[in-house]
Amino acid sequence: MARIVKKFGGTSVGDVERIQNVARVIKSEHDAGNEVVVVVSARSGVTNDLIARAKAINPNPTDREMDMLLVSGEQETIALTAMALQALGVDAVSMTGAMAGIRTEPFHTRARIVSMDCKEIVHNLEANRVVIVAGFQGAGNQGQITTLGRGGSDLSAIALAKGVDADLCQIYTDVDGVYTADPRIVPKARKLTEISYEEMLELASLGTKVMQARSVEFSNKYNVPFEVRSSFNNNPGTIVKEEVSSMEDVVVRGVALDKNQAKVMIANIPDKPGSAARIFEGLSEANVVVDMIIQNIGRNGVANLTFTVPRDDTDRASQAVERILSELGGGEVTFVSDIAKLSVVGIGMRSHSGVASQLFSALGEAEANIQLISTSEIKISVVIDESESDHATRVVHTVFGLDKE
Ligand code: ADP
Ligand code: ASP
Ligand code: MG
Repeated sequence: MARIVKKFGGTSVGDVERIQNVARVIKSEHDAGNEVVVVVSARSGVTNDLIARAKAINPNPTDREMDMLLVSGEQETIALTAMALQALGVDAVSMTGAMAGIRTEPFHTRARIVSMDCKEIVHNLEANRVVIVAGFQGAGNQGQITTLGRGGSDLSAIALAKGVDADLCQIYTDVDGVYTADPRIVPKARKLTEISYEEMLELASLGTKVMQARSVEFSNKYNVPFEVRSSFNNNPGTIVKEEVSSMEDVVVRGVALDKNQAKVMIANIPDKPGSAARIFEGLSEANVVVDMIIQNIGRNGVANLTFTVPRDDTDRASQAVERILSELGGGEVTFVSDIAKLSVVGIGMRSHSGVASQLFSALGEAEANIQLISTSEIKISVVIDESESDHATRVVHTVFGLDKE
């Protein structure tokens, strides 16, 4: 007998037939004598619809009420999944994140998990029940309802796998696993058999939507290996696990494309000590995460600064920057939204040279102009025009030898 956590994403529970399909997958695991904890997301589109409805009623809703609203999406699917299982004669019980013992910081919309108390789940597993837990949600120390950031059901699943000491954690989604690039953009992308936590984390942080970045960070920290696989077929998926030495043989494991970024350019900032610090302090106070910072050499007492921010945070970033520039007594800001960040990732880059020049010549071949560059030990990212980014991703994928045969 094994203890298994299975997470089903939004598309996998998108309608009645799909929920019934998920129930059959769970039933066969349970019939095989295994203990099964299930995590489900809201039906695909529901969380976005709820956000749009909130914004139509109040353009600046409080984070507390947003969380209160958004958790309802997952609550619908836990109840329906439990009902679908009961209809198949399987004893099943649904639980909110709070009931499942997922304790978080008391902060809304992107709360971190602080502890797991899985007694109630284990008690139900021992009574031969399937436990269905609402993904993406937890509770603060005073019972505050919190959410774990977009895509947070992945984190719920991995944290529960750790919390119940599961033998196996499986993330079921609408693709067969983790590919060398988004298969919707690069038809020649290959499914990876395995990938290290570190590469998966880098890909996820750089915009690869298949796993939430924070969930991968958690799996790495607590060493919770997991499998990403399809809920629509039985093909083997991708195993995400600790690095093994042979993984270094591959220089570039995958290409990530993030179209959810915007570029901020500030010209004519008074060039004096502390100016940059004030700008980034202001952005941090506004809770805006900044990436890819470039400052030009100051001339005539003024400097120029360029960086990227998540596109959804553009309004907040713009308010913060305008306020600080008026404090500093100068500078003009421009926001450019139609950009994309393209990145190549691989732990083999640590021990291979020439990746940057190969990437830049691929971008030249794709006629994509490079606007910003940033590098780390296992990745190189560039900002290019969004309109050129799909084609550029395909060219880069080919140049690094990632196309399937
Ligand atoms: P779920 O609703 O199951 O959580 P997501 O929509 O969050 O699913 O993630 C799955 C999607 O991630 C796929 O449909 C695919 O288009 C996208 N994706 C982006 N990059 C990759 C990649 N490298 N490998 C697999 N899927 C990817
Ligand atoms: N429903 C949430 C979202 O859309 C969480 C998830 O799907 O993982 O972000
Ligand atoms: Mg997801």
